[in-house]
Amino acid sequence: MSLSELIGNTRIKATLASYLRNERIPSSLIFSGCDPYHQLLFAVNFAKSIHCLKKNHDGCDHCRHCLAIDKNMFPDVQVLAPEGQFYRKSQMDELIETSSRRPLQGDKKVFILKDAQCLNDMAANSFLKTLEEPLATNVFILLAGNLNLILPTIQSRCQILKFLPLSKNEIRLELLQKGVDPEKSRLLAFFAADGLESVAEVDWQELEGKRSAMLCILDRLLRQSEVEDILLDLYDRSRYRESFLVYFREMVNLISMLLRDIMILMVDGSSTALINLDYKEKLMELAALTNMDKVFFLIRKMEYLLRDIQRNLNARVLVLEFINSYAPVTAIPGQEPFPLQG
Ligand SMILES: [Zn+2]
Repeated sequence: MSLSELIGNTRIKATLASYLRNERIPSSLIFSGCDPYHQLLFAVNFAKSIHCLKKNHDGCDHCRHCLAIDKNMFPDVQVLAPEGQFYRKSQMDELIETSSRRPLQGDKKVFILKDAQCLNDMAANSFLKTLEEPLATNVFILLAGNLNLILPTIQSRCQILKFLPLSKNEIRLELLQKGVDPEKSRLLAFFAADGLESVAEVDWQELEGKRSAMLCILDRLLRQSEVEDILLDLYDRSRYRESFLVYFREMVNLISMLLRDIMILMVDGSSTALINLDYKEKLMELAALTNMDKVFFLIRKMEYLLRDIQRNLNARVLVLEFINSYAPVTAIPGQEPFPLQG
């Protein structure tokens, strides 16, 4: 991939391109933003643009230098990561030593430091002198998830580029670029909570399993069939607040997307603008069973419940209230039977 082919953050891409074009590359940069994978892609491709043998101010992906950088085997581009919780002193000593030497193959040495927030005071202070007296041949790129955790003395010596999170469409395009199948890219992009890194880690089969389980739950909720089991399962899970929250957040997310598709189908049965396009037939069936009011009621109920639990209110009590208001439930073990409500 070349710098110009990178997806998203076009302003940053333009800034980096202008550094290259004007041959004014800052000796130290911070790439800050919530998506470390995306920032690393930018940093590595910037390094390729610096070293590419075609000298077009961009990487070509095919020359000896570009290929070696992609394999992390180019001596003048180093990607570092903390060993353990923080960067060790020995790592910093080695970095300072290496950066004091001349580049071996290119005109510059590029050092990419992942998780730069893991430079503790000691590591940062020993590194500071290197940043204060920069050699024209060095480029340091610090990748930081949280800029606030970088010492101000370091920040003040770096050009800071703040990355924006990718939109769902940009994530989809990036997945396509990585060779992920178009249908999977579309769905994964919808379920990406924190940008590309989380997508890269999503297990497709796991997502598939969850999606079909939620379709089954929704089917029962809308048909009002064996709803007690679902509600009792929720009540049971609410015993452990944290794991319940993770489960329920995902449940609300998946069910809302299924309900959104059902609403679209109610308006236009031929629509292809569905998130879960592969479930269209089943969703059509459900759309015929319900109406807009019921769909809104269900979405609102679930979202309110999630919001209240996130506000730290007692999950167990809230789930009980939800159950009580939602469906005629016979009894929860150990609890008095609930009054029937329609
Ligand atoms: Zn090249």
